[in-house]
Amino acid sequence: MSKVYISGKLFDKEQAMISVFDHGLLYGDGVFEGIRVYSGRVFLLKEHIDRLYESAKAIRLEIPLSPAALSKATEETVAANKLDDGYVRLVITRGAGYLGLDPKRTSDPQIIIIADTITLYPTETYEKGMKLVTASTIRNHPQALSPRIKSLNYLNNIMAKIEGADAGCVEALMLNHKGEVAECTGDNIFIVKHNVLMTPSAESGILEGITRGAVMKLARAAGIEVQELPLTRHDLYVADECFLTGTAAEVIPVTSLDGRTIGDGKPGPVTKDLLARFQTLKRGG
Ligand code: PMP
Repeated sequence: MSKVYISGKLFDKEQAMISVFDHGLLYGDGVFEGIRVYSGRVFLLKEHIDRLYESAKAIRLEIPLSPAALSKATEETVAANKLDDGYVRLVITRGAGYLGLDPKRTSDPQIIIIADTITLYPTETYEKGMKLVTASTIRNHPQALSPRIKSLNYLNNIMAKIEGADAGCVEALMLNHKGEVAECTGDNIFIVKHNVLMTPSAESGILEGITRGAVMKLARAAGIEVQELPLTRHDLYVADECFLTGTAAEVIPVTSLDGRTIGDGKPGPVTKDLLARFQTLKRGG
């Protein structure tokens, strides 16, 4: 029986409950993280904890635990579930309130830690690459809700994901309010052009992915030039290579966008090299 941590206690999965008056449910008022566990080790935990506290700060939500205590609770929940390889979901909600918006009238923020298994993309997608379409739903306007906040409000990403599914794609490309490339619904995007690795910067309106950061670091250490800059769909259409990064996807090649073949239509050498380096990193190398 798997155990779920809620605000200091472990509950059996079936008994793990949150109030229907919680503003996380009523308004998407909260923040979260998705983290991988490899061989019992919580991968890049510090980076995820740092981003969680930054997201919370940005929505003026005070997490009622120190980062060190939350990290410890995360590791203890993973251990209690005897999880070897899997996925951890950390969720902080504003807490139970009344049926109005006022966050001041909520009780204590709730801390939820779920340690579970993970469903991965098929191996074939890593070998052959995935196809993408551009969604008409844009990424959040940075002056509405900053995409840098990993909040519980994922509706525009979900709308874009549905558009992708309608077109037979498991991921969809999202543009920003200026029409530039931002990211996918749950993954960051990279291209390779003339052996230079390029990806939109935070200013393009993206979530600064932890995997994105790890891959940029691996690339720089391998002597690959990395640029963060505004990209258009044209840049993607004429790229030599393209791939996505994310906690669940890790590094996954993209071989077509909007019906245009990217490069020679196969996962490219830089993508394959970075994928191999990432596999070493996650094994603790
Ligand atoms: N962008 C969005 C919108 C996401 O939700 C995620 C996480 N699923 C990512 C990018 C990738 O971030 P990370 O590498 O931290 O998982």
